[in-house]
Amino acid sequence: MTKNLTSPSKYDTARLQQLDRDHYFHPFTDHKALGEEGSRVITKAEGVYLEDSEGHRILDGMAGLWCVNVGYGRKELAEVAYQQMLELPYYNSFFKTAHPPAIELAKKLADLAPAHMNNVFFTGSGSESNDTVLRLTRHYWATKGQPDKNIIISRENAYHGSTVAGASLGGMKPMHKQGGLPIEGICHIQQPYWFGEGQDMSPEAFGIKAAQALDAKIQELGEDRVAAFIAEPFQGAGGVIIPPASYWPEIKKILAKYDILLVVDEVICGFGRTGEWFGSNYFDLQPDLMPIAKGLSSGYLPIGGVMISDRVMDVVNKGGDFNHGYTYSGHPAAAAVALANLEILENENIIQTVKEETGPYLQTRWAELGEHPLVGEARGVGMVGALELVKDKGTNARFDDKATAGALCRDFCFQNGLVMRATGDTMIISPPLVITRSEIDELIDKARLALDLTFEALHSGG
Ligand SMILES: *Cc1c(COP(=O)(O)O)cnc(C)c1O
Repeated sequence: MTKNLTSPSKYDTARLQQLDRDHYFHPFTDHKALGEEGSRVITKAEGVYLEDSEGHRILDGMAGLWCVNVGYGRKELAEVAYQQMLELPYYNSFFKTAHPPAIELAKKLADLAPAHMNNVFFTGSGSESNDTVLRLTRHYWATKGQPDKNIIISRENAYHGSTVAGASLGGMKPMHKQGGLPIEGICHIQQPYWFGEGQDMSPEAFGIKAAQALDAKIQELGEDRVAAFIAEPFQGAGGVIIPPASYWPEIKKILAKYDILLVVDEVICGFGRTGEWFGSNYFDLQPDLMPIAKGLSSGYLPIGGVMISDRVMDVVNKGGDFNHGYTYSGHPAAAAVALANLEILENENIIQTVKEETGPYLQTRWAELGEHPLVGEARGVGMVGALELVKDKGTNARFDDKATAGALCRDFCFQNGLVMRATGDTMIISPPLVITRSEIDELIDKARLALDLTFEALHSGG
């Protein structure tokens, strides 16, 4: 690790790594591997670059966890948080109270969201947003006198968060295995993952088939039992799975036949990831509820929410007390930072630039990686991309031991100054929306180098 060294570091990495081993129980981490290898300690960041405790510069191809949309080092966001904390660091919104930052942010979100969505419930995260979704959909139908209409249909390999409701709504098998999930009243249909599950059909035909699984499931359960269908516009954590073009139109056709709520999880897609404000704009969806988080504040402070359609609001307004809320719902500093973040996205035309310039440029360059002998498919939209690593480019056959190629490639990326994530043998990127053309070139060069090194390692008889 001598490449990309910028400056001597003021941190004692060995000490931090030891304390980390001894005391810090990490989220989503293999603790055996962490103990052996030690953690990478990130100490600062600017623009699209991270710096670690040893002074290495790393291009953050994941925008943190899909969230740092406006990039790192925005002094104006720090300033807004500081001023708000001096003025009013905390107050809640329970029992008919409110404060200006939460009110102003709610108004701003109502302006940005699809026209029929004019209310927002604030949370501290995407997971809390989906817990709210579960309770709100059931509250909606109960208020309408249909308490038995309470089942939520989701999809296999969906990601909706890590709380009990979030993980249950999600379709991640390793998560379900721990803790007896999913909870009752949630079921999962097939995902629209053509490369992984549909290569014996055309993408179009497979998209229709995957959508029709929703119709079949509603028929099986009975319309009067189904409260909602929840889905990400494209699946993020599942591996940047972009449905075939036929999928969403077919889902819309099916939903039009039934009286069922559509929940579009915008936690990743929201705030510019596709080159539109919301994935719902990109795929032309009319959600009843939209969980949001991540890009809402570009990760500068934790905040999420659920955008609510007028149709749902009209009913729950009649329902009396919604016995639900978080101490930090609409936290003043987080709300003020989120509002300032949305203003940056607007004032700097960041989303339009993704749509018209940098997004198409990234996709053109990303597609070039599809020619690599290790890559079976390169796909993407806006400012996300995925590469499917395969053993045999001719047949798209996978490696027998899944996740070896992906993990190798991820480690080579890190060693050469790029964060690219591996989901099994699918490599994914989701860089800050402010990434420039020359930074995209650097990302592509580093990704290609990592693919070369991975290919060599896998084919050197080892
Ligand atoms: C990250 C994510 C969540 C969970 O958000 P947290 O803030 O981590 O709780 C929910 N839904 C989607 C689509 C996500 O990507």
